[in-house]
Amino acid sequence: MKLAVVGTGYVGLVTGACFANLGNEVVCVDKDKERLAVLEQGQVPFYEPGLPELVSKNHKAKRLSFTSDLIHAVKKADVVFIAVGTPPKENGQADISAVVEVAKGIARALNGDKKFRVIVNKSTVPVGMGDIVTKILIENKIPEKYFSVVSNPEFLREGSAISDFLNPDRIVIGASNNRAFNIITELYRSLNAHIIFTSVKSAELIKYASNAFLATKISFINEIANVCERVGSDVKEVAYAMGMDRRIGREFLNAGLGYGGSCLPKDVSALIHLARESGYDPQILTSVNEINEYQIDSFIGKITKTLKNVRGKNIAVLGLAFKPETDDLREAPSLKVIKELIRKGARIKAYDPAAEKAARKLIPQATFSPGVYDTIEGADAIVLVTEWPEFRDIDLEKARKLVKKPYLFDGRNIYDPKRVREAGFKYFGVGR
Ligand code: NAD
Repeated sequence: MKLAVVGTGYVGLVTGACFANLGNEVVCVDKDKERLAVLEQGQVPFYEPGLPELVSKNHKAKRLSFTSDLIHAVKKADVVFIAVGTPPKENGQADISAVVEVAKGIARALNGDKKFRVIVNKSTVPVGMGDIVTKILIENKIPEKYFSVVSNPEFLREGSAISDFLNPDRIVIGASNNRAFNIITELYRSLNAHIIFTSVKSAELIKYASNAFLATKISFINEIANVCERVGSDVKEVAYAMGMDRRIGREFLNAGLGYGGSCLPKDVSALIHLARESGYDPQILTSVNEINEYQIDSFIGKITKTLKNVRGKNIAVLGLAFKPETDDLREAPSLKVIKELIRKGARIKAYDPAAEKAARKLIPQATFSPGVYDTIEGADAIVLVTEWPEFRDIDLEKARKLVKKPYLFDGRNIYDPKRVREAGFKYFGVGR
């Protein structure tokens, strides 16, 4: 099939490259010309394992191309995916302006055209966005018989995006007619995945509800961690045993600094906004966000209380990205921790295997190091923020010799407290 994918971020580029690899002819559209120039060279402007190889292979095979010309790309396509950003506004509401802009461009492209198109919304959007896109096309005189708007939310995770896209737990297709549903089902057929057919509005809410539930699991276990700290239990032991219950499940039960990234915080806030606009006050979701913020404040509190005064102290920060295997710093807990410690007068030296370049722009007052041992040398405290695999295996005895003071704050509970103490450190985890 001939596809146009608008937006070449994590979702759009992975969607485009994977569909090209499955044999489709894909044109990826973006308005960011610098990004397009990088892609034209077969490179990827962000860190995502396996994606550069997939993009380069399909670009060379001429199944995947890049353009800023939305009109041309849409005219050629049978199916148009919208995968642009929907960032949060100040009030938490999702900013849908990029989706609206693209919808208007699609309407211009389809003017006078008599071929049937499926317009697929892959961006995470508030319930009702499908109707808004439909209205924009109708207002621009595109007859309803020539198009259908489908909601096909994406559930991939940064860091394992390709494998998540190709092996999804389920594919949700929210469509208002069988013709559009069948076309999108056909596109996904070779994945042999479980396909769920819903209304457009249900599909839109499934994405928000799923992310809000994941955030709830994280805040729930963080709440339990906070109780553990006060009553002497270890949240790792509690979460492990809870997770063995199949009704609960092990995933997303890791206590720590809470969730960050470009999806969970914004999607919880957008759902709160959506619920309030509809006349319902969502109490669980509000608490989920509050607990997430509390985790960072309480972690910083542990550091400042232990070091007495952080002014002039050297703090070694391990990990910057909001999670391992990505360079994404959007809503990364590291930034909040570092900015607050800098505000209190601390000197920050940080190391991250992928996110240093992006971090240099956001926290120019920090210094950066090329590896773990460089970072911790002479430190008054080690603060682990992101659980990159290489941090799990550090030589603790060597580390103890390099630091000035033996304080290790483990914001992701990756270390065995006993082992850390044996190496001569004072250990501070979350909920243990
Ligand atoms: P991103 O910010 O990485 O990329 C968005 C891209 O869209 C950018 O390259 C930007 O230049 C481009 N763009 C913006 N406006 C445009 C326009 N008018 N015309 C053409 N291009 C335009 O975003 P992302 O992380 O890929 O997320 C995209 C959507 O998918 C969001 O709604 C997000 O919530 C959702 N989502 C993201 C993830 C994830 O892990 N990142 C997972 C699932 C769903």
